[in-house]
Amino acid sequence: MKSVVSNQREFFNTNITKSFSFRKKQLLALKSMLQSNEKEIYDALMKDLNKSKQEAFTTELGILYAEINHTLKHLKSWMENKQVSTPLTHTGTKSFIAYEPYGVTLIISPWNYPLQLALAPTIGAIAAGNTVIIKPSELTPATSSLLAMLIRNTFDPNYITVIEGDKYVVDKLINEQVDYIFFTGSSHVGKIIMKKASDYLTPLTLELGGKSPTIVDKDANIKLAAKRIAWGKFTNAGQTCVAPDYVYVHKKVKSAFMKALRKAIVSLYSKHPLQNHDYARIINLKHLNRLENLLENSGKIILGGNVDLNQLKIEPTILDEVNWEDPIMKEEIFGPVLPILTFTDLDEVIQIIKEKEKPLALYYFGSSKKKKKNLLESVSFGGGCMNDTLYHLANPHLPFGGVGQSGMGAYHGKYSFLTFSHQKSILKQSKKIDFPVRYPNSKIGFKLVKRLFK
Ligand code: NAD
Repeated sequence: MKSVVSNQREFFNTNITKSFSFRKKQLLALKSMLQSNEKEIYDALMKDLNKSKQEAFTTELGILYAEINHTLKHLKSWMENKQVSTPLTHTGTKSFIAYEPYGVTLIISPWNYPLQLALAPTIGAIAAGNTVIIKPSELTPATSSLLAMLIRNTFDPNYITVIEGDKYVVDKLINEQVDYIFFTGSSHVGKIIMKKASDYLTPLTLELGGKSPTIVDKDANIKLAAKRIAWGKFTNAGQTCVAPDYVYVHKKVKSAFMKALRKAIVSLYSKHPLQNHDYARIINLKHLNRLENLLENSGKIILGGNVDLNQLKIEPTILDEVNWEDPIMKEEIFGPVLPILTFTDLDEVIQIIKEKEKPLALYYFGSSKKKKKNLLESVSFGGGCMNDTLYHLANPHLPFGGVGQSGMGAYHGKYSFLTFSHQKSILKQSKKIDFPVRYPNSKIGFKLVKRLFK
């Protein structure tokens, strides 16, 4: 670990990584690496998570291509120094912000989107002119080892490298005092990373998880809401950080919604989802057992609930008669189980959500502008959608990140560039004039300064 970090630091200190042409070349190399190895990537994602080609493209490769293209289009202008205004007190000066790369960056990624969540931050790190060490998840060995091999064949390891392994590798890398840490994973591990980083005051971004609420109001388009919720929840078998964790449906439309939800699930995954080759599996037996345990001890199963231990699959499952005392409401579900709660007064739901940790995402289905405005103003959460689920995260113009326990900092598009850049503030003073007002021996100056600052 020592030599990996010190070699990257040496490489960074040559300033090679900082020119626009270098950054552009590396982004193009990354894109071509992905394009030339799509088949291998599909195979690895199938092996690790039984991801279908369609899901692998829309939620992993497609997002990466869009991020690279967007970055290539705008990078030159993002890199330019940003001139800022000059207040009266600073007459004669000029000020600007320079975007400076941090240096050696460490990207720690989880298993649920093992390619996308390792490389989307890498795009930002390259764009900002850093070197990169990627520590992918040990729970997706096929994708992580493929990623290591592809990166090794594409980039100088002193510039970008992958180090496989578990938490001990992370510990050692942080102890080598990298210049920036970008962590995606659970809130629990996020706290460990932040504590460790504080030993060196290493700046960091935390992309974490939590329970993301979904609300279906009485004036929602029920059919569309059911379809979009089913898609957002059961994509990747519910193992998505921004998946709807639970649904609050208005009492008046509950039965219509439940009917539409069953229909949507059958239409998306067939009547026998366990035999559907395109339906993702649970990452490992430990997580499957955790989900089974939640299912056994919470609410009433009204659709699905069957488990295939050999394939590590759980059917898309709807749970009714759930309350906040049930174990399933005490943790992030991160699996294909959707608890349904009922409400009559939106303000009560808002109050309940506000009493919990700030969610990573929130989704509202309804038509009233007033209610949407009230909801947005009342509840703090990372980001979300009105009348959809997940879609916000694929818009590169939007910052993606959490707040409070669901994370700190954000990325995607320009926000990735900013995340991986230190904003250096520079003031250029004139040598021609030297206003006396600031000096202690000028009585008129002091009076003037007081007036100017009032
Ligand atoms: P995790 O926190 O267990 O692991 C994430 C990474 O941290 C892995 O690379 C792992 O090796 C490493 N790690 C684990 N324990 C560690 C420790 N004690 N010290 C140092 N490093 C350690 O998360 P996971 O199970 O891989 O992923 C699921 C979680 O990630 C969910 O909570 C989900 O919501 C969250 N997530 C968040 C986002 C986001 O963008 N906000 C995206 C995907 C997943």
